[in-house]
Amino acid sequence: MNKEEIYKKLLQLAGSGGSVRMDAPMKEYTTFRVGGPADVLVEPSDAESLSTIVSALKENGIPYYILGNGSNVLVKDKGFRGVIVRIGRAMSAVSVMGDTVEAGAGALLSAAAREAAEHSLTGLEFASGIPGSVGGAVFMNAGAYGGEMKHVVSSVTAADSDGSVRVYSAAECDFGYRHSVFEKNGSIVLSVKMKLEKGDRAEISSYMKDLAERRRSKQPLNLPSAGSTFKRPAGHFAGQLIDEAGMRGASLGGAQVSPKHAGFVVNNGDATADDILSLIKLVQMRVKENSGVDLETEIRIIGG
Ligand SMILES: Cc1cc2nc3c(=O)[nH]c(=O)nc-3n(C[C@H](O)[C@H](O)[C@H](O)COP(=O)(O)OP(=O)(O)OC[C@H]3O[C@@H](n4cnc5c(N)ncnc54)[C@H](O)[C@@H]3O)c2cc1C
Repeated sequence: MNKEEIYKKLLQLAGSGGSVRMDAPMKEYTTFRVGGPADVLVEPSDAESLSTIVSALKENGIPYYILGNGSNVLVKDKGFRGVIVRIGRAMSAVSVMGDTVEAGAGALLSAAAREAAEHSLTGLEFASGIPGSVGGAVFMNAGAYGGEMKHVVSSVTAADSDGSVRVYSAAECDFGYRHSVFEKNGSIVLSVKMKLEKGDRAEISSYMKDLAERRRSKQPLNLPSAGSTFKRPAGHFAGQLIDEAGMRGASLGGAQVSPKHAGFVVNNGDATADDILSLIKLVQMRVKENSGVDLETEIRIIGG
């Protein structure tokens, strides 16, 4: 199938609340704001259309990639040959039942945290400033300020690779540092239940404000990035190793190691994906030379 044919087929399958775009510029769908076009980008209207779309892509041997809010993904400059299946607004319902918040995979963490706060539920404050979707956060076991998705997730509904829908218990999610079972088995997170605790609404809000302030003071939130570029190496902090290697503030083309937080590579406005990738390699090389530590990227790199 050529991309026009794929586009037409997906238009039929996306459902009335879904959307399909050909030659979608990935800089518009990722927080790094770089990356060439994807042949086709589809946003399914619901879990059913998502399953149908993924089955059709598999049957026809068309490469695809599941994208949430694109806050941990770098798309290369030549773009992505195949279909980006973006789980977004159409699958972003958030509801609260007792002490449990249920969110569609496309819901933003900030929206889920806000809803929890409005219901005086505590436990999700840590996630309020992480700019990802709930699905992406489960996939990555996102965490901050001592909290992790693993502490709050009670179950996950996911579409397995054979197309069947299955509920995973928290233990079955096999959460670890920036890791979950979904990374291994390729299942797609559809919705998530998070069990929280009753708390004091004013205290919850004030803690969320405090965390937002800490982020603003430490992180370069005014520039496009994908957050921490590297995983935390055992026994070290990536930012500190980068600093000690003399790479804080180093730049290459439009990419720069943030002078504010050396763990973040930022796009100064006109970076290409190539600039960012070259700078990442340089940082890894300098850190290895200086401290002997191998820095592994936390961000996902896709495309050609
Ligand atoms: C300014 C900034 C600050 C950040 N701070 C933090 C932080 O404090 N802590 C932290 O952990 N992260 C942080 N991040 C990184 C990022 O926000 C998280 O990793 C987030 O969980 C990614 O979610 P996403 O929806 O954007 O996923 P994407 O970037 O779209 O995708 C990430 C991975 O998840 C997969 N995926 C996405 N959705 C699904 C799904 N429904 N089912 C299966 N797989 C899926 C994708 O295939 C991809 O491999 C930060 C990023 C930025 C830009």
